[in-house]
Amino acid sequence: MPDYQAPLRDLRFVMDELLDYPAHYARLPGGEEASPDVVAAILEEGARFAREVLLPLNQSGDQEGCLLEGGEVKAPKGFKAAYAQYVEGGWPSLAADPAHGGQGLPPSLAMVLNEMVCATNLAWGMYPGLSHGAADALRHHGTDEQQATYLTKLVEGTWTGTMCLTEPHCGTDLGLIKTRAVPTDDGAFEITGTKIFISAGEHDMAENIVHLVLAKLPDAPEGSKGISLFVVPKFLPNEAGEPGERNGVVCGSLEHKMGIHGNATCVMNFDGAKGFLVGAPNKGLACMFTMMNAARIGVGIQGLGLTEASFQNALAYARDRLQMRALAGPKAPEKPADPIIVHPDVRRMLLTQKAFAEGGRMLVLYTAQMIDVVEHGQDAAEREQAETLLGLLTPIVKAFLTEVGFEATNEGVQVFGGHGFIQEWGMEQLVRDARITRLYEGTTGIQALDLLGRKVLMSQGESLKVFTKQIHKFCQAEEGNTELAEFVRPLAKLNAEWGELTMGIGMKAMNDREEVGAASVDYLMYSGYATLAYLFARAAKQAQTTLVEGTDDAAFYRAKLNTARFFYQRLLPRTRAHKQAIEAGAESLMALSSEDFGRGFEL
Ligand SMILES: Cc1cc2nc3c(=O)[nH]c(=O)nc-3n(C[C@H](O)[C@H](O)[C@H](O)COP(=O)(O)OP(=O)(O)OC[C@H]3O[C@@H](n4cnc5c(N)ncnc54)[C@H](O)[C@@H]3O)c2cc1C
Repeated sequence: MPDYQAPLRDLRFVMDELLDYPAHYARLPGGEEASPDVVAAILEEGARFAREVLLPLNQSGDQEGCLLEGGEVKAPKGFKAAYAQYVEGGWPSLAADPAHGGQGLPPSLAMVLNEMVCATNLAWGMYPGLSHGAADALRHHGTDEQQATYLTKLVEGTWTGTMCLTEPHCGTDLGLIKTRAVPTDDGAFEITGTKIFISAGEHDMAENIVHLVLAKLPDAPEGSKGISLFVVPKFLPNEAGEPGERNGVVCGSLEHKMGIHGNATCVMNFDGAKGFLVGAPNKGLACMFTMMNAARIGVGIQGLGLTEASFQNALAYARDRLQMRALAGPKAPEKPADPIIVHPDVRRMLLTQKAFAEGGRMLVLYTAQMIDVVEHGQDAAEREQAETLLGLLTPIVKAFLTEVGFEATNEGVQVFGGHGFIQEWGMEQLVRDARITRLYEGTTGIQALDLLGRKVLMSQGESLKVFTKQIHKFCQAEEGNTELAEFVRPLAKLNAEWGELTMGIGMKAMNDREEVGAASVDYLMYSGYATLAYLFARAAKQAQTTLVEGTDDAAFYRAKLNTARFFYQRLLPRTRAHKQAIEAGAESLMALSSEDFGRGFEL
C-alpha cells in the first residue's frame, strides 16, 4: 500500500520563510488566532488524520466503489466513519465565519490541509470538497433565511453541498441547460430536469445534501443570460431546521468511471423538486462563479496532492529497487545491483515530480495569501490588487497544476517499471484519479481561454502587468547578486518575453479571433512555467541567504537550490516549445475542413 508523510518541513519553508505567513496572518483581522503554535498544531493533526484515517481507505475505496440501492448511495466501507471523525474534529469549520459557526481561521490554512486530504484520498475528499464552495455561494448571495437554514449545517459538516451544473447535452456551454424552475404560490420553485456527473450527489455520509442547481425560469432570456441559481435540499428542513420531508430529487444512477471510484458521481433527477432562488433571477451564473472559483483552486490542489503522493512513493521505491549498475561504476558494490535511484533517467523522473510538487506548493500558498486578503484584508487597494492577481492565477492553479500533476503521477508509474502498472502498488490509481482533474471544473482548454481571453486580453494586459511588475521588481533587486544570476537572468528575460508574447497574440487577435483559441493552452502552460520560475527564484534566494547565514539544516536548503536549478535547466526550456507553438498561430489548426480531418480512412 502506498505511504504518505505530509511534507511538513517543506510546508514550513514555504509558509514561514518564503512567504512570511506569520506576518501575513498577523495583518489579518482575527489573524492572531493563527499563531505559529496553533498553525503547527493544526498542520500536525491534519497530517495525522490524513495518514492514519484517510490513507488506509484509499485503495479499498477504489476497489469497492459506491453502491446504489433504491435511490440511496452507500459510500465505500470506512468512508462514513472517517467523515464523522472529520466533523467531530471540527475540520469543516476551520476557516468559516464565526457568525455561521466557523472558527474564523484564514482560508489559506484550510487549503494547506486540503493538500494532505487530496494526497491521501481524493475520492473521499470530494464528499466534503464542494461544501465549502456551496457555503461560499450562499454566504455571498443567499438571503438571511437561507443562510440561517443552510450555512451553519454546511459549516459544521453535518450537511454536505453539491454543485449541479452539467446536463447530458452540456457541460462547458451552460447556456444550453434545459432544467426548468417554475414559481409556486409559496414563493418557492419547482425544479425539473436531469443533471449528470454530480459529485457526491447522493451518499450516506451526512444527514442532508444541499444541492446548488442551475435552472431556467419560464420567461428567461436565451443562453447564459437566462440562468438562475437555486438551493434544493435532499430533505426539506422542518421548523426546527432539521431534515424533514424528502424532496423530489433522487439519484437515478452512478457513473462507472476511470478513477475516483470511491466518490459517487451521480445522475440526479429533479422531478418537481422544491427549490429556492439564490441571488437575483437570471444572474445564477455569476453567483455560481463564486462557487466555481473556490472549486477551481481546490482542483489545482488535487493535482498538487496527487503529485506529492506519487513522488513520495516513487522515491521510496527507487531507493529500494535494485537493477543494473550505475554507468560510472557500482554505487552499492555490496549488493547484487545498485538501487535504481543511481540512474540519471530515474533521477530525471523523480526530480520532475519533486519540482512540480514543491513548485505547486509555492504556487498554491502564494495564491492562498491572496484569497486571505480578498476575504479579510483591511486595505481596499490591497484587496483590489489581490483580487486581480487571484483572477489571473486561478486558471493557472487549476489547469497547470492538474496538467503537470497528471504528468508527475505518470512518471511515478514509470519509476516503478512494470510494477507501476499493477494495482496493488497503488501507483496506477494515482494516475487514474489525477485524470479527472484536467476535466472537471472546466477543462484545461476552458481555463486557458479564461486566462488568455478573459483575464489577460480583456483587461488589455493589465492583470498580467500587475504580476510581471512584481517579478520585474524582484529581478531588479537581485540584479547584482551573482550567486543568483543563474535564476534571475533567465527570469528577467522570460518576464519581458511574457509581456511581448501577450501583445503579439493581442495584435493578431484583432484581425482574427481564432488566434486566441489557437494560442490559449500553450499560453497557459507558458504562464505556469513562468510563474513557477518566479517562485523557484525566490526560493533559491531564500535558500542561498539561509545557507550564508548558517543553518543546522543545510542539506534541506542545498536540496532546495538543486530543485530550483533542475527546474530552470530541465523544465523551464519547455517554454521555448510553447512560445514557438503560440507564434505559429492559427493557420494550420484552422486549414482543414471538418471532412478533411478524416481523409485517410478510406482508400
Ligand atoms: C467524475 C466527474 C465529476 C464531475 N463533477 C461535477 C459536478 O459535481 N457538478 C457538475 O456540474 N459537473 C461535474 N462534472 C462535469 C464536468 O465539469 C464536465 O464534464 C466538464 O466541465 C466538461 O464538460 P463536458 O463533459 O460536457 O464536455 P464538453 O463541454 O462537451 O467539451 C468537450 C471538449 O470540447 C472542448 N470545448 C468545449 N467548448 C470549447 C471551446 N469553446 N473552446 C475550446 N474547447 C472547447 C472541451 O475543452 C472538451 O475538451 C463532473 C465530471 C466528471 C467526469
